[in-house]
Amino acid sequence: MFKIALTAGHYRHTAGKRCPISLDPNETREWVLNDRIADKVEKLLSAYEGYSLIRTDDTAGEKAVEVSDRTKAANSFGADVYISIHHNAGIMGGTGGGIVAYVYNKTTNPVTLEWQKELYDALIKHTGLKGNRATPLAKANLQECRETVMPAVLLELGFMDSATDVPIILTDDYATKCANAIVEVIVAKGGLAKKVIETPVADTKLYRVQVGAFSNRQNAEKLVAELKAKGFEAIIKAEPK
Ligand SMILES: [Zn+2]
Repeated sequence: MFKIALTAGHYRHTAGKRCPISLDPNETREWVLNDRIADKVEKLLSAYEGYSLIRTDDTAGEKAVEVSDRTKAANSFGADVYISIHHNAGIMGGTGGGIVAYVYNKTTNPVTLEWQKELYDALIKHTGLKGNRATPLAKANLQECRETVMPAVLLELGFMDSATDVPIILTDDYATKCANAIVEVIVAKGGLAKKVIETPVADTKLYRVQVGAFSNRQNAEKLVAELKAKGFEAIIKAEPK
């Protein structure tokens, strides 16, 4: 059983974490974007078996779950991988941006680095949101990646304050592409199998219904006549006793 801890960063009401009104009149919250992708990941994964998954954020977005509680939940669950979904900021309304995948700066686990690279490559393959970040495979002293004992990758799936990224990251299509990319890597690395949908095997036998068996042919003919009179198809088949 492959165990996945998935988290949508922050919660609906985290101060400041939103698209600026200059780029998005709805000021879409970061958690809303994170959650949309996390939900799609869960839905796509449901076509597979051989895994269990926990979400360590509040999936209603109403409770601020501390980062330390998220990492503790993943650790006690015994997760094989921790994937944290975020959206970036720091471009202040300018152009450029793109996807960045973070791991803990002191990690020496080659499996963690594999997850980082494979997730990043799949995300770029599906979305094309490469942007102009100098270090898309980034290392940083992030609490989420530091306190988790399993391979952990924090994905920043585009910039909420980039004039380039915002029109893309707000679309449902972009969220679907991100989810497809993440699931593709989980399925491959976790060795998940597609659920088999059982279809009934075609029946090649022929079933006859027997009504009576007689040692006297006349009695048999009498029953056939009765059955025919009632509208049934009936025949006599003579067999050895
Ligand atoms: Zn974030």
